[in-house]
Amino acid sequence: MSHANTPEWAWMNGQFIPFQECRLHVRTQAVALAASVFEGVRAYWNPEQQELYTFELDRHIARLRQSMRIMRMRIEVPDDFAATCVELLARNGFREDVHYMPTAYLGVPEGNIAMGPTTDEGLFITAVARPPGKALDAGKSVCISSWRRISDASMPARVKAAGNYQNSRLALHAAWADGYDDAVLLNANGTVAEAAGSCLMMVRDGQVCTPPVTAGILESITRSALIQLFQEKLDRRVMEREIDRTELYVAEEVFLCGSGMEVVPVISVDRLTVGSGRKGPVTAAIQAAYFRVARGQDNAHPEWRTAVYRRSGG
Ligand code: PMP
Repeated sequence: MSHANTPEWAWMNGQFIPFQECRLHVRTQAVALAASVFEGVRAYWNPEQQELYTFELDRHIARLRQSMRIMRMRIEVPDDFAATCVELLARNGFREDVHYMPTAYLGVPEGNIAMGPTTDEGLFITAVARPPGKALDAGKSVCISSWRRISDASMPARVKAAGNYQNSRLALHAAWADGYDDAVLLNANGTVAEAAGSCLMMVRDGQVCTPPVTAGILESITRSALIQLFQEKLDRRVMEREIDRTELYVAEEVFLCGSGMEVVPVISVDRLTVGSGRKGPVTAAIQAAYFRVARGQDNAHPEWRTAVYRRSGG
């Protein structure tokens, strides 16, 4: 495997190792059965301060533990796992925006039961540079997918499990085949859940709304942060409520949010233009607030940021 922005180091089971050597056997349940849970975390480069800030790391590690518990994966996460994540970023010397994935995985089953217990399970962390995407300004056209979001009765969406992304992938590739940029999935009840890899918010009649955490969504850390920033920076209370498909057809603004997605305007839904067909004012305001706080250009919520170089003495 080779990639233009391959970093030098990864971390696996207590050791920093060359990125290219961070491997699992094909017989592991992680590879064979998608038996892993993970986090997608951001770190943002602040050029004025010459500092890299990682965003909401403790909450990501708490969610990783929650995912492991729900999936009955007994893998010990060391108390200093957050510090290990930060050290990996520092060792790679990133001076740009980064996306990294702390992951817990299951190993090779001991007996002949494919899903049986394993003892060679563990943890790894990989981090790669990820520059800002064009969609932050240009926005995305989305469809309502004919695929339904997985439900808590079968495969919980609140778990960030690798296997869940097969549901997302079906929806995303179907959307691409039809010429859209992304897919919005309805949940088992037929109301809006989330997009393939992000949560969704809309502005309708001036009110910011987003589906509740019981609507078949990942309990998004970005979503929670935006709910707080809406209140604190924009004096708007976000209503967590069910959203019908056709509300998206008449909303003033729709946007997607997540660690990987960041805050991306939706410019059309099922080819119906949203608002002006460009990034709307509420989306622009919350996007700017998010980046200023996450990048450490706004001092609000210091507890959300961990400085990679100051902390590691770099
Ligand atoms: N929903 C799905 C399906 C996702 O993959 C993601 C990205 N992790 C999100 C929502 C957003 O979650 P977060 O803000 O915690 O990254």
